[in-house]
Amino acid sequence: MNEPEFRVALQNRIDQVQARVADACRRAGRRREEVTIVAVTKSLSLEATRLALECGLSTLGENRPQQLWIKAPALPQATWHFMGHLQRNKIDRTLPLVTLIHSVDSVRLLDALDAEAGKQGRRPAVLLEVNASGEGTKQGFAPDEVVGLADRIRELKNVRVAGLMTMAAPLDNPELCRPTFARLRSCLDKLRPLIVPGHPCTDLSMGMTNDFEIAIEEGATLVRLGSVYFAGLS
Ligand SMILES: *Cc1c(COP(=O)(O)O)cnc(C)c1O
Repeated sequence: MNEPEFRVALQNRIDQVQARVADACRRAGRRREEVTIVAVTKSLSLEATRLALECGLSTLGENRPQQLWIKAPALPQATWHFMGHLQRNKIDRTLPLVTLIHSVDSVRLLDALDAEAGKQGRRPAVLLEVNASGEGTKQGFAPDEVVGLADRIRELKNVRVAGLMTMAAPLDNPELCRPTFARLRSCLDKLRPLIVPGHPCTDLSMGMTNDFEIAIEEGATLVRLGSVYFAGLS
């Protein structure tokens, strides 16, 4: 696909996604501004990511540190999020590049982020990843572990916990993901009173291409969208 074709195709998809997000907000009685779309650019080259930014996608996410390290410095006009497994030895290079890390999946990682943030003089925002679907293979805290993290969170000096993230199971019928999303929201409702003030704890990062409308109906404030924009492009 050449560049003009890529732009036309992507612009169409952006318009369609905007309409679907607006409809989901309307159905749920929510304001459109409550939902931020994070475009997950992991399938795109640097040049295609630049085009996506020019087409109007402005908050971009990557799930591999090495890709983030290449793209974020080359495209500093984007707002960058990280949403993959983060090894502790990759924290130092990742922190300066992102405004939000969606995928803190262990207390060890949380503590290591807090220590490195202190060294760098930063106050990064993070989300705790919860295995709300209960699949054995998934990263993240179990839903009933979350409330028990409040004491650790209150001891953090630099990191601010902005909320929770989950990945639903990839089911043919996205309606079946609804209980997973409701479970994440219920975890957030229980955690919030224990760590506010000090931690914003209002964000729910949930919903991907397959299930973002259901996630919005269940309270998502961040949806992470990749293939609905980029499948088959480039
Ligand atoms: C790839 C990815 C997404 C986007 O998935 P799609 O189904 O392509 O929209 C969202 N979140 C994470 C963590 C991802 O790795």
